[in-house]
Amino acid sequence: MPRDYYEILGVEKTATPEEIKKAYRSLAKKHHPDVSSDPKEVAEAKFKEISEAYEVLSDQEKRSLYDQYGHDGVKQQFGADGFSWNDFTRAEDISDIFGDLFGGMFGGGRRGQSRNAPSQGESLRYDLEITLRDVLEGKKVNLDVPHTVVCDPCKGTGGKDGKVTTCQTCGGAGQVQQVRRSPFGNMVTVSDCPDCRGRGRTSAEKCPHCRGSGRITKDSHIDLKVPPGMEEGMRLRVTEAGNAGYNGGPPGDLFVVIHVKQDKVFDRDGSNLWTGITTSYPKLVLGGEETVKTLEGEKVLLRIPQGTQVGTVLRIVGKGLPRTNSSSRGDLMVRVSINVPKKVTDEERELLMKLDSSIKPASSGKGKSKLSKKIKDTLDDITR
Ligand SMILES: [Zn+2]
Ligand SMILES: [Zn+2]
Repeated sequence: MPRDYYEILGVEKTATPEEIKKAYRSLAKKHHPDVSSDPKEVAEAKFKEISEAYEVLSDQEKRSLYDQYGHDGVKQQFGADGFSWNDFTRAEDISDIFGDLFGGMFGGGRRGQSRNAPSQGESLRYDLEITLRDVLEGKKVNLDVPHTVVCDPCKGTGGKDGKVTTCQTCGGAGQVQQVRRSPFGNMVTVSDCPDCRGRGRTSAEKCPHCRGSGRITKDSHIDLKVPPGMEEGMRLRVTEAGNAGYNGGPPGDLFVVIHVKQDKVFDRDGSNLWTGITTSYPKLVLGGEETVKTLEGEKVLLRIPQGTQVGTVLRIVGKGLPRTNSSSRGDLMVRVSINVPKKVTDEERELLMKLDSSIKPASSGKGKSKLSKKIKDTLDDITR
């Protein structure tokens, strides 16, 4: 049993069209598969559920059918397989939320037109995971993307051997007009022709290859060059690699959405990379060198200046990630920490104790802050 549409949108049965629209927009923003934190299938199912509820409740006629007869009242509005994106007529309500990217997905532009007018096919989305190294060097990938293409044997007509005739009911227009008399004059309503389902053509025999749909699904092999410097969520458009167009319209596009895998060693901050090294106390005090491995695996000698504090960030210029639309690279930022040995030899112990006792007088002298001096004085007062 499908869920109640009002419940899905979280509105009262008495909600105004504005309230329904508002509820839908905020839910759509939250659950859109492109932004939702849910797994893709879950997000898609949720988003479809929301859109189906909105499709019904935003339409006065469908809403009143639903109010009277429940889900059965609106079932026939949708095809045999239930709600599909082709039933979604509210593209303009969401297209401004997500820009033009998903315009094709919602059949944008087809609303209000006859279904036998040429229109663009649906755009598709492909999620591609790449590594930080790929961000650095770019990557060539081969994608197998299933999409629909025009059925060749019937040339997309859906009729066996391409044989079709103009629909007698609508004269090929794909739409029929009904004139109703009302107290205010004649009202003309236009709807899809029931005999050809808006296509304007009928065939005596269906094409066996596509079962009359005029399109078949197949994998297309796409060689894609992912340029260096890509960031999480960036999209690459492969024009016309989406689903086949309708009635001679152009195919939709394919959008490859980039996801950058977390790296074990490097963190990313724009075009800069962050990593860490551990060094010894003497090197921090006296200065020295440490080897740092860059993202490309190159070993770079990093100079540690005399008197470096723990937590200091040293910069290796030009060893970060490529900047987009630029040949330059960001920097590698190296945070310095100290390696405190858990075990020491007798000799080391002696040296360290000697060092500690030599530091003590200095630390109670001019080198320390006023605050700690104050605390020390207080303690001296107490113990005295
Ligand atoms: Zn017709
Ligand atoms: Zn066919």
